[in-house]
Amino acid sequence: RVISPRASSPNEEAIERALRPKALDEYVGQRRIREQLEIFIAAARNRQESLDHVLLFGPPGLGKTTLAHIVAREMGVQLRQTSGPVLERPGDLAALLTNLERNDVLFIDEIHRLSPVVEEILYPALEDFQIDILIGEGPAARSVKLDLQPFTLVGATTRAGMLTNPLRDRFGIIARLEFYTADELSSIVTRSAGLLNAAIAEDGAREIARRSRGTPRIANRLLRRVRDYAEVKAGGRITGEVAHAALSMLDVDPAGLDIMDRKLLEAIVYKFDGGPVGLDSLSAAIGEERDTIEDVIEPYLIQHGYVQRTPRGRIATQGTYRHLGLTPPAQTGG
Ligand code: ADP
Repeated sequence: RVISPRASSPNEEAIERALRPKALDEYVGQRRIREQLEIFIAAARNRQESLDHVLLFGPPGLGKTTLAHIVAREMGVQLRQTSGPVLERPGDLAALLTNLERNDVLFIDEIHRLSPVVEEILYPALEDFQIDILIGEGPAARSVKLDLQPFTLVGATTRAGMLTNPLRDRFGIIARLEFYTADELSSIVTRSAGLLNAAIAEDGAREIARRSRGTPRIANRLLRRVRDYAEVKAGGRITGEVAHAALSMLDVDPAGLDIMDRKLLEAIVYKFDGGPVGLDSLSAAIGEERDTIEDVIEPYLIQHGYVQRTPRGRIATQGTYRHLGLTPPAQTGG
């Protein structure tokens, strides 16, 4: 899926690293978060303390990992990176924590997927920079308290609602990342094109931006595909026209929706009569996992009025019908 907001391969991850902004003032958009972090980081640096723990939430591809790296760099410390599902045993996390240096950043992606026993270790670590570890086995086992260096946890999750309350309560800074505007994406595309040595016209960047579902990762990926097309078919320069032709070939429509999005909209309208339809039925109808629908496909569609979420399920909106080229029935939501 060309517009999946998740990184699809190690190769893509390497390119992403290269395109990643390294400082807060290179980070486009998310103004409120940037302003807050600027102040909190400056204050922490002045006091030579660790920054408060930061929770970042929002759909994949919006720049959570990038921001975690920037926080570490602006604090002038190292970043260690891991993810919820990778930390299987308490010892895995304890090993990471005891190796942190003063004020380091520990980045845990998909933090909502930490197992309860691992999460348990994290509480005293976050609160008092201490962990309790069990040494030995059976009756001889005893619990030992270890002091940690002060550190900052940056946690990332697609849905803040999936965190347990005690974990969420331990973050001092909680920030929700928003989808980017077309102007913001346009400047991201222009910047990335510069780094990739690709010639791009302003209308070329705008065309790609408009079709990127508000998501920098998708914008960068579409840019690379359009660049290929431009090199082979159009002498290398990415104009609006070239971008349009390339993206049509990739089945990304002018609103930035792809086949999967359209399948979902079509299912609601044709198979479920406009809804309401539950996630499980939708998932079965389009052959996608419910988590993927909820975390990846749906947020953008809901925000832009292509689908409405109600307590009884998903329903079609005027926007759904219009997008599919249909006349909305007299009574629809949205
Ligand atoms: P997430 O962790 O939320 O899935 P990432 O931080 O990995 O997203 O971002 C994906 C890609 O998008 C990065 O490689 C980066 O180049 C780009 N990106 C994300 N946010 C921004 C931003 N605010 N400005 C410029 N590029 C960005």
